[in-house]
Amino acid sequence: MTVAWDVALCSPPHRTFSYGTPDYLPERSWAVGQRVMVPVGGSVRMGVIVGSLDGERQGERKLKPLAWPLDQELLLSKDVLELVRHLAKRQMAPEGLVLSSVLPKALRAGAVHFALRDGDTVSKIRLDHILRASPSELAVYGQAWLDGLLTPVIAERADRRNATYVLLRDPPWDLRPGAKRQLAVLEYLFTHGCASRERISQEWQADAAASESRNPDRVLADLVRKGLIQESPGLDASVDILPAQPQPQECAGTTTMEHALTAEQTEAFAVLQADLEQAVREKKGLVRLVHGITGSGKTLLYLRLARAALAMGKSVLLLAPEVALSAQLWTEVSRNFPDVPKHWYHGYLNPGAKLAVFRAARHQATPRIVVGTRSALFLPFADLGLIILDEEHDASYKQDEGFMYQAKEVAYFRINQQGGLMLLGSATPDVKTFHAADQGEIARVTLRKRISRCQLPEIGLVDMRRESRSDPLSTVCRAELESALERKEQAMFLLNRRGFAPLVSCLDCGTAPKCPRCEVGLTYHKAWERLLCHYCGYTHLFPCNCAQCGGTRFLPMGEGTEGLEEYLGNMVASSQAIVRLDRDSTRRKGRMESILETFAQGRAQIMVGTQMLSKGHHFPNVTLVVAVDGDVGLNLPDYRAAEKTFQLLVQLAGRAGRGERPGRVLIQTRNPEHPCWEHIRTGNYEAFFSQELERRRKFAYPPFVKLAMIRLSYPREWERGADVVTQAGEHLLREGARLGLRVLGPAPAPLSLLNGRKRIQCLVKAMSWLELRDVYSSLQTILPRSSPFRSSLDLDPVNM
Ligand code: ADP
Ligand code: ZN
Repeated sequence: MTVAWDVALCSPPHRTFSYGTPDYLPERSWAVGQRVMVPVGGSVRMGVIVGSLDGERQGERKLKPLAWPLDQELLLSKDVLELVRHLAKRQMAPEGLVLSSVLPKALRAGAVHFALRDGDTVSKIRLDHILRASPSELAVYGQAWLDGLLTPVIAERADRRNATYVLLRDPPWDLRPGAKRQLAVLEYLFTHGCASRERISQEWQADAAASESRNPDRVLADLVRKGLIQESPGLDASVDILPAQPQPQECAGTTTMEHALTAEQTEAFAVLQADLEQAVREKKGLVRLVHGITGSGKTLLYLRLARAALAMGKSVLLLAPEVALSAQLWTEVSRNFPDVPKHWYHGYLNPGAKLAVFRAARHQATPRIVVGTRSALFLPFADLGLIILDEEHDASYKQDEGFMYQAKEVAYFRINQQGGLMLLGSATPDVKTFHAADQGEIARVTLRKRISRCQLPEIGLVDMRRESRSDPLSTVCRAELESALERKEQAMFLLNRRGFAPLVSCLDCGTAPKCPRCEVGLTYHKAWERLLCHYCGYTHLFPCNCAQCGGTRFLPMGEGTEGLEEYLGNMVASSQAIVRLDRDSTRRKGRMESILETFAQGRAQIMVGTQMLSKGHHFPNVTLVVAVDGDVGLNLPDYRAAEKTFQLLVQLAGRAGRGERPGRVLIQTRNPEHPCWEHIRTGNYEAFFSQELERRRKFAYPPFVKLAMIRLSYPREWERGADVVTQAGEHLLREGARLGLRVLGPAPAPLSLLNGRKRIQCLVKAMSWLELRDVYSSLQTILPRSSPFRSSLDLDPVNM
């Protein structure tokens, strides 16, 4: 007999509290994994039952009872709960915090209404009304809940036109013959899990008799009233769960599964298919890296493997680091799997649409394909056989706000739970991944040839020390641009995002000052007239002499790039249009798509943008790509600066010359001797990798150590702040020395003041994650309680 339920709150403070079973609902109405309303202080809050205790262990403690359940059927599977528990432990975060970032917003809603059905009438009842009800009324509500007549209403206003419908339970197949239409809708939902109103109307009209109404709304409303299906409001038309109509420009580069595989693809596919079969058969997780240069046909491999997994009755998760990239995969999947149930799941879906997919995953009857971004890993599938992470090196696979996680680790956990193949695909793998492959921890397949006749573009370096300082573009770039435009071709200009604080480089030799201990770029802080290392806190007076050539004149890097759009505007004819792609220009929903479309359709000739433009887009008419300030990336205060630059520029080069005409890539640099350039020019990943690995070994960075960033912050005006930071730093150094870890810092974070809070960070290097968690938890014991001081732990930070 259960006497205590552990409920993790899905809102701050995200703690877990114990509750008893209320007398108006029997014990069987409650279950681990269920969303429930519970009393907390004076209010009622949403939480998830994450555990239960039986009588013996509970003892005599008197517990507040649970208030009301929100699910008749459990939405969170055992596997997802297990994953949540694992992540909470790993991140040292409360389970409620993990849950609140895993659950779609619609499932975290606090104030809930209920619909009470009595015959054909439905009345709406507020939760607080239920909670204040008399015992006899409560007994009535309790019975109604048990009978399925009382159902939570998730959203108040439904936008009927864009609504999505989800099947709530197995259809009663013996519905009266008169309910033929209802049965048809139920059947459709039974195989597809969920569908938009539009889709249902299409089906409806396809086989409606002439005498029937052209409109399914009445039948849908009947089914909602019977509690058989649920309506979720306001699915955004552009992110329908229907296969989106492929855009014309996307067709140019899309893959058809019917292509005969090349020799290289055939070989790779045979290996991967055997892996997949073995993993599914033996119910164990297998991981493979697909290292294939840009344009080597990785997507076709993904699609063929997806088909193989579906044929084995397994669902497929196909992930991209960002929504825009997932859109391309979605198009491919839609074209190639017209008859397979599928969903597109990502952070920009509205709550109703997310909920619909979440439910569909839980109640599915047939295997399906989900295309999406990292959050799709938390969908409660029970039959995953294949998880593919395309562009696996991308930093966006790490969620580093709120609850932090690395999608690759979550995927690894999921695939081990379910038994299947996890595929990491990239032209420029994460150094850590490639190292693991080198060590034999991950098996690997390699694609070395481009599919199409057109070769990888020629990459040239432009020595900017010989150019006029007032001109952001070199003479050769300007000439190349002019001739590209004359030939009616397009050009892309990369403005590497500049560091948080200014980086400087020597005007004479192009060298940028680096931290002697950490080997990362130093940033200039004007107020202190110093250069600073954000890893270890090392500082150096500035201005100073260049360590390389003794020069005394320095140049801020990345400066003037903001004006590039304007500069280009003045340079080209007024008939030429320029689009800009960066965080600012794409903040509004749908903007990114429209910018990309404008460019793809040739309504703009030039695209200027941050690293966003390097990612996976296919623009056959682009023949010139320019990295305007190639040095910014290399000198970022980040140990992965070289890796990121290599990835960025090789991907960027992959953008040029994808059509019939050859492409050209120009990298402008003040430091053409840097060893990185040669590998970028030749696109030689292996050579870059060995060089980078040596550097990582020498300066003790991953994969040779485990890294954690401990972030500390306090309100600027809090006068004890600086003292607490000092104490924390001393404690970490002491504990670090005791445990044999290296602690760097405390140093100001790259954004040392944000939202009125001072931000400080300590970098810790250890041999195991456990040691890092230990040192972090020991820190918690000395931090002042109930103060505005905050600390957080970022394991394996990727955006620094
Ligand atoms: P990657 O993802 O490795 O950069 P893609 O999957 O985009 O490469 O493939 C590049 C192009 O080659 C695409 O247009 C794709 O349709 C085409 N392609 C891939 N495999 C084949 C094949 N076996 N036969 C013909 N075309 C192919
Ligand atoms: Zn340093």
